[in-house]
Amino acid sequence: MKSFMQREADFPLMDTHIHLDSYSLSDQQAILADIRHHEVQSVISVSMHLASCKRNLELARQYGPMVRPAFGYHPEQPLPSSDEIEELLDWMAEHADKMVAVGEVGLPYYARLEAESEGRPWDNRPYADLLEQFIAFAKKHHKPVILHAVYEDADIACDLLEKYGVTRAHFHWFKGSRDTLQRMAGNGYFISFTPDILYEEEIRDMACRYPDHLVMTETDGPWPFEGPFTGQMTHPRMTASVAAAWAELQGLSISEARRILYENAARLYDL
Ligand SMILES: [Zn+2]
Repeated sequence: MKSFMQREADFPLMDTHIHLDSYSLSDQQAILADIRHHEVQSVISVSMHLASCKRNLELARQYGPMVRPAFGYHPEQPLPSSDEIEELLDWMAEHADKMVAVGEVGLPYYARLEAESEGRPWDNRPYADLLEQFIAFAKKHHKPVILHAVYEDADIACDLLEKYGVTRAHFHWFKGSRDTLQRMAGNGYFISFTPDILYEEEIRDMACRYPDHLVMTETDGPWPFEGPFTGQMTHPRMTASVAAAWAELQGLSISEARRILYENAARLYDL
């Protein structure tokens, strides 16, 4: 018979940010065939663009509540044309009842840095305008927003979220200043930790400080990780290691940490 503590440890895991459609078909099938064996209840599969939204919707249809799709346009790529934006937003509106959130959307921090380091001209304005359209969409359709907005870009995202009164925001794999973190925490925005919480000091430091009712686990798969995960295909089961690392940093038992992390995700995403 299981003890009370063991039963508590059964709180399921959630991968709140993965690009499931970016894996090969056979890897998608392998992951979805065995995530329940690893106590992962469901994954939030975020989209890169319209074709990716359609693939994620198909996965959700095929696999039911194990796959929760989010629809959006990833910022670290060339801007879509205004026709493409319109087509995407129309499609999202048509399928609003199927999406758990707007995402992945945000600002192209790494693309901008690369352009600047190569001396290429860069105009951030159209990216911020596109993000504003997604945030307005989220407000209108009562959806949370999954953001790729790190360092100083997070302040621009906060300005827009505040402008539209959007309170359900998830800054995935966040990195940024203490001031920005304080602002985000004050607004009740969520952040999530990837497997790099096991070995990145910057992330571990943040994990010690960010309010425990606003944190979740993710993988951002198929993005590969280092440290103990070197050479492994990124898999939602790695959220167990993320939860264990966060528990240790917080001085909590693993079972208590898993309960908190699960309840946070369930609260933000109405799961
Ligand atoms: Zn991502």
